[in-house]
Amino acid sequence: MPLLAQNDLDQRVAKELDSLVATYKHLHENPELSTQEKESSALVAAELRKIGYDVTDHFGQYDSPGLISYGIVGVLRNGSGPTVYVRTDMDALPIVENTGLPYASHVKVKRADGAEVGVMHACGHDIHMSVFLGTARMLAQLKQQWSGTLVMLGQPAEETVGGAHAMLRAGLFTKFPKPDYVLALHDGSDLPAGKVGWHEGSILAGADSVDIIVRGYGGHGAAPQRAKDPILIASEIVVALQTIVSREMDPQIPTVVTVGSFHAGTKHNIIPDEAHLQLTVRTMTPVQREKVLAAITRITKGIAAAAGVPADRAPIIEVAKDNVPATINNPELTRRVAAALERGLGKENVLPGEPAMASEDFSLYALEDPKPPICMFHLGAADPAKWQAAKETGARLPGPHSAEFAPVPEPTIRTGVKAMTSAVLELLKK
Ligand SMILES: [Zn+2]
Ligand SMILES: [Zn+2]
Repeated sequence: MPLLAQNDLDQRVAKELDSLVATYKHLHENPELSTQEKESSALVAAELRKIGYDVTDHFGQYDSPGLISYGIVGVLRNGSGPTVYVRTDMDALPIVENTGLPYASHVKVKRADGAEVGVMHACGHDIHMSVFLGTARMLAQLKQQWSGTLVMLGQPAEETVGGAHAMLRAGLFTKFPKPDYVLALHDGSDLPAGKVGWHEGSILAGADSVDIIVRGYGGHGAAPQRAKDPILIASEIVVALQTIVSREMDPQIPTVVTVGSFHAGTKHNIIPDEAHLQLTVRTMTPVQREKVLAAITRITKGIAAAAGVPADRAPIIEVAKDNVPATINNPELTRRVAAALERGLGKENVLPGEPAMASEDFSLYALEDPKPPICMFHLGAADPAKWQAAKETGARLPGPHSAEFAPVPEPTIRTGVKAMTSAVLELLKK
């Protein structure tokens, strides 16, 4: 971006900052759980309409017919050229906030099971929405600097990974302009406010949930010879599954196989009929995912067979359908975005990011026709002094999903708006 344009952007962002920070604090104080983003989405939609976007609200269709999708699609057409999507998520987490901030959330809601839970924007999706609205304002103001179509996407239910799917299934890429690029950012405390980070290729893991029912034959605990003990078989399976990561996978590519739940039996002296295992699997590529899932099946079935379980009582292995694939940043797009970030923020403020084993349904946008290149970059949100102390002394620095996660609003939002605006301007430059 030429220097003059850069100064212009800096000044425009500075002008909007007070109002964006006020919006942030309002959103932070009024978080809503996944699929319940009624007020947040209404705010986002109203803001986009005010500045001239053609807005569709309540967009999306969940699997469960009773749920309303609060998806927002705001379109700004500005001549010929590519179409860029910018996505924000809008939902908060069931966490009791413990930041002590003056604008902390005190929201409590009753869940479907009747339990009362606190609600907190502990993943910073309130930061994302504020940056998103700032970016929408900047690009509306700077229309003479770009040509093409901008689609601002407010996605519900990221934390429960139903939102992207709901919007795609409702025809996001067919009812609205087809995307050439899809961008997003995520905040965190790995970087101080004022900095952004990027990484090409896999940046977030794919997540699968696997349920295994190990079937044996129950009987008296004192007569094991007449039973086929599923607890022992399942125990051997749990141990053998550890060899997938340690012996089968490339040590250079991170993989996780965790057995998070093991349930069987009712009493000391009864051998049960079944044992139930629940696993979470994290992988960085589709090929690696297939390999791990195949190994789980092979090992589980093999151990049951070795124990003498007949084929008609073989273990039942179920991979949950609501899996999320790995988030893979398109390398070419990511390098282009990174160069724009360096021009927009200064080289010293753009750092190499690192992949993490968390998951995101942002990954799904890359898999839907026309399979657009996607790029998510990291937005530093940590208090720079605390970040420095954490680096030097190892002091604890709470990050996303912590009750104490406390982004510093002003520099984080300023940097986010400048970063995302610079990235879009690069992709839609005249
Ligand atoms: Zn999260
Ligand atoms: Zn998040």
